[in-house]
Amino acid sequence: MVIRQTSNVMQMISVEEARAYILRHFAPLEAERVELLDALDRVLTEDIVSPIHVPPHNNSAMDGYAVRAQDIRGASKTNPIRLNVVADLGAGYVPDAEVTQDTAVRIMTGAVIPRGADTVVRFEETSEAVDQKASGKGSGSVEILNAPERGANVRLAGEDIRAGEIVLRKGTLLRPPEIGLLASIGQSKVNVHRRPRVAILATGDELVEIDAPLSEGKIRNSNEYSNAAAVLKAGGVPIRLGIARDNVQDLTRKIRKGVDAGADLFITSAGVSVGDYDIVKDVLNSEGEMHFWQVNMKPGKPLAFGIVGGVPLLGLPGNPVSAIVSFETFARPAILTMLGKTKFARPQVEAILQDRAENNAGRRNYIRVFVSRNGNGEYTAMTTGEQGSGILSSITRANGLLEMPPEDLEYKPGARVRVTMLDYPEEI
Ligand code: AMP
Ligand code: MG
Repeated sequence: MVIRQTSNVMQMISVEEARAYILRHFAPLEAERVELLDALDRVLTEDIVSPIHVPPHNNSAMDGYAVRAQDIRGASKTNPIRLNVVADLGAGYVPDAEVTQDTAVRIMTGAVIPRGADTVVRFEETSEAVDQKASGKGSGSVEILNAPERGANVRLAGEDIRAGEIVLRKGTLLRPPEIGLLASIGQSKVNVHRRPRVAILATGDELVEIDAPLSEGKIRNSNEYSNAAAVLKAGGVPIRLGIARDNVQDLTRKIRKGVDAGADLFITSAGVSVGDYDIVKDVLNSEGEMHFWQVNMKPGKPLAFGIVGGVPLLGLPGNPVSAIVSFETFARPAILTMLGKTKFARPQVEAILQDRAENNAGRRNYIRVFVSRNGNGEYTAMTTGEQGSGILSSITRANGLLEMPPEDLEYKPGARVRVTMLDYPEEI
C-alpha cells in the first residue's frame, strides 16, 4: 500500500517512522549457492549438518610420546621410567605400530593416537627435553619424567563436532571462524542470501563526471561515488547509471534503465527538496507511486520513497553530507535486511565532548565528531568543524555521529554524550 502525495505540503515525519515504513518494503532475498569464501559476511539460508566427526580421529594435542598411563605411574625426575620407542609418527600418517607394555610411540601434534596408547607425555616431561641425545628419535628409548593423568594431551574424535550434528543454523552470519568451521567439515559451497543489486542515479544539470573538465557553474558528481562505495561496504552490488539531467526525457530513460537492470533497490540523489524544480518529483510520480517526505533530521531533511516499476526507490537529498547520512539511516538497513541480517544498529560509545555542540535546527541534528581515547582510557569526542550539509570534508574527518534531539539546543564541553560509531577502527 502506497499513498500518493496529494498536496504540495510535505509531511514532516520522524526518522523512526520513515525507517519503519521503508523497511516494511524489504525482506531477505532468495538464496544462491556460492563458493565458501564468497559467503563471507553473508547469511546462511540452510542448517548445516556435519557429515563427519571433527577431529575425525583421536589425536595428539602435543609433540611428545604416546604411552599407556599404567606404564608410567609414579614417573618423576627422580624416578624416571624408561620406555622402548617403537615408532616415530608425524601428523597425517596412520600408525602401524601398537603401544604395548613399556613401549612408546614418538608422536607429533595432530598425529593419530596409536592403538594401545591412552596418554601423551610432552617432550618437556621426558629426557628428550633434558638431553637431546636421549631423544627417542632413533635412540630406541626415552625416559619419562612425569606422570600426567590418563587421557592427558589426547584430543578425542568428535570432541569439537559430532557427525550428524547441526553445526551452523540458518540465519547465521558467516565470519572467518564460521568459514573455517565449514571448511573443516568439507563444505566447499553454501547457500546464502544473494547480494542486493542497487541502482544508483545522480540527478542534476549542474553535475559533471569525475574526469570531465569543470566549466563555470558545474560541480563534480560525488554522490554517485559515495553512494556506490556505501553500497559496496554494506554488502550490495552497485549498478551505476551515471547522471540524469533535469529533463523528463533523460530522467525517464535512466530510471527505466535501472529498473530493467534488475535492481532490488533504486537510489537517486537530489531533486526531492521543496525548493527544487519539480522535474525529478514529476518523473518519479509518473513512473511509480511515490511519497515525498520531510524527515525530522539534519542533515537529510528531504527524502522520497516509493515503488517504481516494482522496485523500491529511495530519493536521497542532493547535498553530499545529507546523502551520506540519509544513506546510513535508510539505505544501509534496507540493504542489510535484503542480505538476511537482522541487526543494523552501529555500536555506540559514551564519550566526553571536548568542544561545544549546538542544535538550532529544531530537528534531530547529526553532528560529525571524531572519537578518540584520552590518557585515562576514556572516549572523547571532538566536533570536526563546519557542519553544513555540503561540507564533505568535515565528514571525512569524523568517525562518529552525535545525535542531538530537537529539544537539546546545546551540549557544553565536558558533557557526556553517546556517539554512534560509523567506523570502529582498531585504535580510536
Ligand atoms: P538538490 O537536492 O537538487 O537541490 O541539490 C542540493 C545540493 O546538492 C545542490 O547544491 C547540488 O548541486 C548538490 N548535489 C546534487 N547532486 C549532487 C551530486 N551527485 N554530487 C554532489 N553534489 C550534488
Ligand atoms: Mg537539483
